[in-house]
This record gives sequence, structure tokens and C-alpha cells, in this order.
Amino acid sequence: MEDCIFCKIIKGEIPSNKVYEDEEILAFHDINPATPIHILVVPKKHIESLVHLEKEDEVLVGKIYGVINKIAEEQGFKDEGFRVIVNCGENGGQEVMHLHFHILAGKRLGEKIV
Ligand code: 5GP
Ligand code: ZN
Repeated sequence: MEDCIFCKIIKGEIPSNKVYEDEEILAFHDINPATPIHILVVPKKHIESLVHLEKEDEVLVGKIYGVINKIAEEQGFKDEGFRVIVNCGENGGQEVMHLHFHILAGKRLGEKIV
């Protein structure tokens, strides 16, 4: 996707502070962190949002959660806890239309909605 900022990060056209990479998944620090640790985990395949997932992507989503677990372990916040958020569509507040999982960690999150 030519105009997608995360596709450009994946291709290396825009620099990012990488945390994890494999053939299908990339994780990097959010440019505007909401918490002391704020990491974005994205599939390298351009999928617009959660509702654009297809049946064949279900394995990939499972792998993303595995990667999140691995990052939590490696970055040292597995035991203290963290939150994973996926914003979807307009009401969900999604700004970048390339599926991404926010990992928020490093402080006690008080702003609980659910
Ligand atoms: P959304 O609001 O779509 O769920 O989240 C998009 C996230 O992408 C935001 O937290 C924003 O700070 C982050 N972001 C936007 N552009 C860039 C960028 O060029 N580099 C990085 N590392 N993060 C970005
Ligand atoms: Zn993209």
C-alpha cells in the first residue's frame, strides 16, 4: 500500500525503533508514547483493520499474540502486567489504517473503560 505509513516502516522507507521482527510481523516503539513503554505490533501484510481480517489471517493473529508475549518477557514487563489495545474504525479511534496492536506498559493504567 503506497500511502500507508506502517507499510513504509515495514519496507524501511521510514525509520523506526524496532523491538521484534520476523517474516510476518514487525514490532516497534510508538513515536508518541502514551505510557513509559508503548510498542506497536503489526502484521507485515497490509490489513486495514480488525474487520478486514480474513479467515486465512486467523493463524497470523494468533502469532501476533505469541509475539506480544515474547516481547513482554524480553522487555521485562511480563510479570508487572500490561494492556493490549486494538482501535478499530472511526468510533474506535483508529488513525492509521493498517492493523496494529498497541502494547501499553511501564505504569499502572488508571483509565479503565472495561
Ligand atoms: P491508532 O490511533 O491508529 O490506533 O494508532 C496509531 C499509532 O501510530 C499512534 O499511537 C501514533 O503515535 C503511531 N504512529 C503514527 N505515525 C507513526 C510513525 O511514523 N512512527 C511510529 N513509530 N509510530 C507512529
Ligand atoms: Zn499498510
